[in-house]
Amino acid sequence: MADVKLNHIYKVYPNGLKAVNDFSMEIEDKEFIVFVGPSGCGKSTTLRMIAGLEDITAGELVIGGTVMNYVEPKDRDIAMVFQNYALYPHMTVYENMAFGLRLRRMSKEEIDTRVKEAAEILGITDYLKKKPKEMSGGQRQRVALGRAIVREPKVFLLDEPLSNLDAKLRTAMRAEISKLHKKLKTTFIYVTHDQVEAMTMGTRIVVMKDGYVQQIDTPGNLYNHPCNKFVAGFIGTPQMNFFNAKLKREDKIIKVSFENTDAEFNVPQRYLAKVDENYLDGEKQVIAGIRSEHISVDTEMFSFKAKCRVSYVEDLGVESQIYADFAINSEDAVLESPTKVIIKSPAGITYETDEVIEVSLDLKYLHLFDAETENTIAPRIPENYSVKGEVKSNVLSILGAKLPLPPTMSTEDGEYEVRIPVTAISFGGDIKAEFSGEDKVNEKRIAEVVADGKILFIPIADEEKIEVKTNTKSKTSNDKSITFCSISIDLKYLTLLRNGEAVCAAMPVQNSISGKVIKTKVVVQKEVKGKLKTVKEPRYRFTVGEESVEIPEEISSKMLKSGGKNIFRDIIELRLAVNCCYVAEEGFTATVVKIADYGNEKFAECSLNEDTVFVPVAEDFDGNEIKLGINWDGMSVYDKDFDIRLV
Ligand code: ADP
Repeated sequence: MADVKLNHIYKVYPNGLKAVNDFSMEIEDKEFIVFVGPSGCGKSTTLRMIAGLEDITAGELVIGGTVMNYVEPKDRDIAMVFQNYALYPHMTVYENMAFGLRLRRMSKEEIDTRVKEAAEILGITDYLKKKPKEMSGGQRQRVALGRAIVREPKVFLLDEPLSNLDAKLRTAMRAEISKLHKKLKTTFIYVTHDQVEAMTMGTRIVVMKDGYVQQIDTPGNLYNHPCNKFVAGFIGTPQMNFFNAKLKREDKIIKVSFENTDAEFNVPQRYLAKVDENYLDGEKQVIAGIRSEHISVDTEMFSFKAKCRVSYVEDLGVESQIYADFAINSEDAVLESPTKVIIKSPAGITYETDEVIEVSLDLKYLHLFDAETENTIAPRIPENYSVKGEVKSNVLSILGAKLPLPPTMSTEDGEYEVRIPVTAISFGGDIKAEFSGEDKVNEKRIAEVVADGKILFIPIADEEKIEVKTNTKSKTSNDKSITFCSISIDLKYLTLLRNGEAVCAAMPVQNSISGKVIKTKVVVQKEVKGKLKTVKEPRYRFTVGEESVEIPEEISSKMLKSGGKNIFRDIIELRLAVNCCYVAEEGFTATVVKIADYGNEKFAECSLNEDTVFVPVAEDFDGNEIKLGINWDGMSVYDKDFDIRLV
């Protein structure tokens, strides 16, 4: 098996430059993965870390189930093809391909079989006796591929292998490499800065920028569901059109208005069902994006109409691209800050410069991003829902249900905005909902339900069965059958807000504890060369204030490998699930500030040095102080100053 796992991989070069930050992904056997992004974004560095040509600063690389961080490149069972194919000029094609195998002392017969097979696959059998200088660029690149193929590696790594070739040859070789992948049935990881190459070759694509992964997805999902404005703009030609816009919820529609234009559209709510509620106030600035193929010069094509003024038309033969200006007012005058658009249209269309034309838009494909973070405000699996709720005598009415609030959440009567994280919603429970159906988002199941008119998307576990009941009403022939289900909400994760202020805060899912790492020595009896000797061994302790606990050896050695001496200088942060903290006999002394009583569960809110830590406690707990025990399994450890995940 040649699956490749990258777990929180970082690369910091000796000069301090962080080239790759927190890169995590699982590459399945036989996938064709493309790393794409502008020059300098960290693609090659990541590939070279997989190859073993660069050390991995932090994180874990696993190939075929084996941790590879410290395995020599030659023992990783991978082959790499570079942009610069660097063939030996004095050797024939045959010798170039056989060279690596000879170094590995493979038998002559085996080498001969492999070279001939590879030559056959690549269609270069007739060139085996030729020298590289007698061949074209494309043929030489094929020999470079052949050199990799003969090794029969588990994983192929290709670093911009086509960028030295001219455009026509590149297109032809692109198709050949895809075919090769199908023939060889092995894992391919391919680096390119060309989004067209990525979109046409990858089964999945990793889009990178400034050392950070932006999105890992199929070509279709990157195109249709970009996670931020960068991905939206990077993928697709011509580039997506962007506008400053505002959104306002009005009954069953959402009013979308483009800044500096008269364009205003009443979009059905179901088109924008996943948009974060906080952006629908008509005030917050958002960035709207629409691809050129979703604007048409045929006014009958789509239902939303707008006017624009043509700047010029580019006839590309198969189609035309119209460059126009959306920012015109009702008198057809261009406004001060223009809003440029590119519209795809049938070839041969002509317009006068400055001609005002009417176009139609398909707003089903409207993309929306936060104006500052530039992240999508309509993620495929939303993180939070915001719903209106009312509290009366400590009973919360939301989503058509009445939910008694636990003692900790008791609050004044009145109306609240309730924030519900999607992870707090599950199937089965007291809240009735309509079940609309199930979908798959990145291989994960997600259900769509409607509770009291509010559309909710709920992630479902792989094996989970959802209980539904179908009611067929037959009062009138128009009545459709409705499928019902029931859902529940874990109240402790709700936030109750009034005028934007949190009146009742959600229980955190994770605790964070900051401290320092110190090195100590312990005296142990150890067998050295068959004799029992007293030796001093290093041990590492995590200290918070005046107290410390020993760090398990496995964790401390990973911390040292990733962070080096920095770990003794910098602030180290432990991040662990609330239920990985417990009341212990020995541990850090934490002062109990408050008890959070959720009825069936109780937590002590404790102060530990400068952190607030939540700890599950027994029902009858009423102490002022606890000894905090921490479970190191599954914990993440960060160097806060260096901003890097050590474990
Ligand atoms: P890409 O392949 O996406 O063009 P690279 O992975 O080559 O990007 O480089 C990522 C960043 O790391 C760039 O800023 C580059 O200048 C820097 N870099 C690459 N190699 C080294 C090195 N050996 N030492 C220091 N910085 C480097």
